[in-house]
Amino acid sequence: MATKYIFITGGVTSSLGKGIICASLGRLLVARGLRVTVQKLDPYINVDPGTMNPYEHGEVYVTDDGAETDLDLGHYERFLSIRTSQQNNVTTGRVYFDVITKERQGTYLGKTVQVIPHITDEIKAHVTRLGESENFDIVIVEIGGTVGDIESLPYIEAMRQLRYDVGRKNTLSIHLTLVPYLAAAGELKTKPTQHSVKTLSESGLSPDILVCRSEYPLDETIRRKIAQFCNVEIEDVIASLDAESIYEVPLLMQDEGLDSRVIDKLNLPAKNADLVQWKQFVDKVKHPKTETTIALVGKYVEHHDAYKSIVEALIHGGALNDSRVSIKWVQSDYVNDENVADLLSGVSGILVAPGFGDRGIDGKLSAVKYARTNGIPFFGICLGMQCAVIEFARNCADLDGANSTEFNESTPYPVIDYMPDQREITDKGGTMRLGQYECKLSDGSNARKAYGDEFIRERHRHRFELNNDLRDTLQQNGLVVSGVNPERDLVEIIEIENHPWFVGVQFHPELKSTVNEPHPLFASFIKASLFHKEGYSNVQSEQNQPV
Ligand code: GLN
Repeated sequence: MATKYIFITGGVTSSLGKGIICASLGRLLVARGLRVTVQKLDPYINVDPGTMNPYEHGEVYVTDDGAETDLDLGHYERFLSIRTSQQNNVTTGRVYFDVITKERQGTYLGKTVQVIPHITDEIKAHVTRLGESENFDIVIVEIGGTVGDIESLPYIEAMRQLRYDVGRKNTLSIHLTLVPYLAAAGELKTKPTQHSVKTLSESGLSPDILVCRSEYPLDETIRRKIAQFCNVEIEDVIASLDAESIYEVPLLMQDEGLDSRVIDKLNLPAKNADLVQWKQFVDKVKHPKTETTIALVGKYVEHHDAYKSIVEALIHGGALNDSRVSIKWVQSDYVNDENVADLLSGVSGILVAPGFGDRGIDGKLSAVKYARTNGIPFFGICLGMQCAVIEFARNCADLDGANSTEFNESTPYPVIDYMPDQREITDKGGTMRLGQYECKLSDGSNARKAYGDEFIRERHRHRFELNNDLRDTLQQNGLVVSGVNPERDLVEIIEIENHPWFVGVQFHPELKSTVNEPHPLFASFIKASLFHKEGYSNVQSEQNQPV
């Protein structure tokens, strides 16, 4: 079967949840036995989001192959249980970079290089290359931005051409729009949708299906009006109301018939959707038997998107333990040894987040110390793990002034230091240790128990690591190295003795947690926090050990 392409555009305003709609449609089509992937086209000029501030862009999602990508790829992986790669995220910066590189190489044979056809051809090539790479049945193409933006135009034009190139029957245009409720008039308004569809249609990509975000249900009259003025059938007006959990959206979209309309229109061979496991998960999220509170200590906490995958992985790990996870957001800038007990009172687990730069480091160190000395389950991720090592060095190994060279180049004890191959690098984009690497776990460790495997593979994004020159000293003082990269002998996981659950990981486990496969470390961390909450005393009996 030829690969079919579904283009998803957004109108009226940003933040309508296009990524979730794409991921939800993807989940429904996967549940019907189709081979699906999702691609995000981002109309900005950065080559990738790797150099962007988390306040600006939210989390940078890293794929197995080490691409630094948009956080929507996280939703695709979590919803569809697929693995994405560099090919799944294309930006205007990358497209121009590729075109200009070709121009310099003389590939265009003396032609004038222009937006049309050269930029649009490059965009189309990125889309079809992904479709052909694994012979997918369907590629869902999410076009970032809002219809009418100048910067989105080449993408819309490229998709218009692609409809022509691969045949109309092999493509579908879905437009996500807003149907606002005007309190003063007491009614839902369709005009913004009509305008948005008009703009899209002027670019030659008139929609086949409209997904209408709305705070109130769309009645028959409104649906009919939208259908009539936007040139779609009434069954193709799909309502998308606010949901309690994003994981409910696939089920709501199924109720509205989104997947059936797509199957019909693309004439796809599809079985009935198998959503048994998904429904069980949603049920656990909505009706937990218990609750636990985890402190998330980080410096970007005002902007929750900066920690998107961590938040979702906590939900997955919670569901596996029949527990709701409430997050207490703790701004690391404000934490110190005096107020830490107050700020972290009542939490059953402490997660120190990834990050860059020295702002908030002292607060993170106070949080680590508090977790370590009070037997509170602790999970340090990347920078969080590095903070755990620094805190241990200073307070348990007598290494006064120990630090990371990221924060103090002349520290007497650089327990965290540049990786040798990072020292000479000056370019910022795409130059960290990125992507998936192997890690060997040691017997008896919390990590080994959680994973139940000796070898694991996890994704990385960092420049610094535990300094092997000081590793022996740290271990002699009780630091447990429970995971090592076999190829380069890099420390990937640390733990400490005589603590119910204290795990720091140099990698980013949150990036691999999905609905169908919650991440074992998150599940184990939540389990430990539930033990803690229920008065788990520091008795180290095998039976009582959270794994
Ligand atoms: N800043 C640290 C490093 O580069 C940690 C990075 C992170 O937390 N992702 O090594």
